[in-house]
Amino acid sequence: MPIPTEPVGSLPRPAKLQAAIADFDAGRITFDDLARVQDAACLDSIRRMESTGSPVNSDGEQRISSFATYPLADTLAGTGLAENLAGDGQFFAIFEDGHHRQLPRLTGGPFRYKHYAVEFFEKAKAIGTTPLKQAVIAPSMLALLYPLDSELPGYSREAFLSDLIDEAEKDIRKLFAAGAARISIDFTEGRLALRNDPRNPWTGRNMLKSFVALNNRLLDRFSPEERKNIGIHTCPGGDCDSTHSADVDYADLLPSMFEMNAGYFLIQLASEKDKERVYRLIGEHMRQDANGVAQVAFIGVINPLDPRVETPEEVRDDLLLAAKYIPKERLGSTDDCGFSPFSIDVKPKHGSPDVARDIAFEKIKARVEGTKLASQQLGV
Ligand SMILES: [Zn+2]
Repeated sequence: MPIPTEPVGSLPRPAKLQAAIADFDAGRITFDDLARVQDAACLDSIRRMESTGSPVNSDGEQRISSFATYPLADTLAGTGLAENLAGDGQFFAIFEDGHHRQLPRLTGGPFRYKHYAVEFFEKAKAIGTTPLKQAVIAPSMLALLYPLDSELPGYSREAFLSDLIDEAEKDIRKLFAAGAARISIDFTEGRLALRNDPRNPWTGRNMLKSFVALNNRLLDRFSPEERKNIGIHTCPGGDCDSTHSADVDYADLLPSMFEMNAGYFLIQLASEKDKERVYRLIGEHMRQDANGVAQVAFIGVINPLDPRVETPEEVRDDLLLAAKYIPKERLGSTDDCGFSPFSIDVKPKHGSPDVARDIAFEKIKARVEGTKLASQQLGV
């Protein structure tokens, strides 16, 4: 079997769609008006991703508010916020360029998703012609909805976490039932947990171990056969062409990350300074037997924050070097992150989201072609 390759999930939303979202938030257009623009963006995303030759594709997450908030609200501005939530939660991340992203705040129980990813997946499946993947959000991110230090009256932290795991399980089961080929869990908060940013109180509290344990409560509800197709995505963030935790050493993250009983990992690497060292760390820490499944490492070979398009030869060379440390039958390729995990993203280094979309498809094509070259050279 050739080296597998798959995207993380998102693509920049066209400028027209971002304008329509703003019009919907301002009450200038109806949801049906917005949905028509979303439909067009999804169709364009799937067709163009398919035209790259990519074997597994997505709808580019064109309908969702963000990778983290899709279960909670209709738009990133908080229109249609789910019950028992208020808009003013904690920062989940403060990025290097100074901008930040904020989560809602839980005000009471019970906690329920307003949207499951399957709603978006089914619309994509109706138009897709290749196997489709869907990204979902990790329980460890949504755990940050609960107050950090206090208990909510009448709704204990454990009652919340129990509801959260039930909802996250439903999110994944519904996708498998609808025919999702692959499901990856976004875990950007893993690396950020190792930073100590005094402006962002949840960091610097050694929360990584509890994140891993919480996500394993979810993963342990699935069979080894199911977990072959359930992945974890790690990255230092990727929003407005900026990161939130690129200075955190992978040596501190990877041993804990591979304790999660997922079947595969989508790992940012193209933008790492010393890739070879990280390939070696991956080879040392990935598990042959994660409760019945052999873990597969998909290394990032494309940097979605940089407008320069990688060549297929660069992709090939990254994979050949990685194969010195990672068994070739447990190696895959991916992008470092989604191309726009948040719906509203002007992609400043690219000039505009429309230019960034064109570049994204060129980059995906380079990943697909470079991965084929590496497969030929490695004889797989
Ligand atoms: Zn990411």
